[in-house]
Amino acid sequence: MRKRFGLFICSTCGRARVVDKETKSSSCPYCGNAEKTDKMVFIYECNDQETAREALGQAAGFEGVDPKAEKAKKRKIENADPYSTMIYKYEHTSDLDEKMVILAKGLTKVKGTFTLEDVQEIVGERNAEKYVAAMMDRCYIAEVRPGQYKSS
Ligand SMILES: [Zn+2]
Repeated sequence: MRKRFGLFICSTCGRARVVDKETKSSSCPYCGNAEKTDKMVFIYECNDQETAREALGQAAGFEGVDPKAEKAKKRKIENADPYSTMIYKYEHTSDLDEKMVILAKGLTKVKGTFTLEDVQEIVGERNAEKYVAAMMDRCYIAEVRPGQYKSS
């Protein structure tokens, strides 16, 4: 008999989760990556959800999953994520004011305080100074130390 629940390692973020195979597709609660259940390769299968959850708790010990590497990978994703999210939002916004708010909040979230160079990396060398001046004008950012800015 086909077992109903499977333990699946997300191919995008590497986290394990329990998947109900009666659903056609399942999306990862951590990174949102959706995959078709019939295409998934399960590292463990069983018929009741309780057992599946227990197995999930032990998933880090399963063969092929190196907890240390997984942790480092997770950290990398967590660190990279707010930055790429910010770039994505920035690039998909046409409103200049909104772009500035996204930069001010995003850079502060990622870096704590940020510099003109950080802004240059995103808006380009020619625009960075204008952006910083405009963000100061509108009180989106404050200069907390010389050359160090923070969302206000
Ligand atoms: Zn995932």
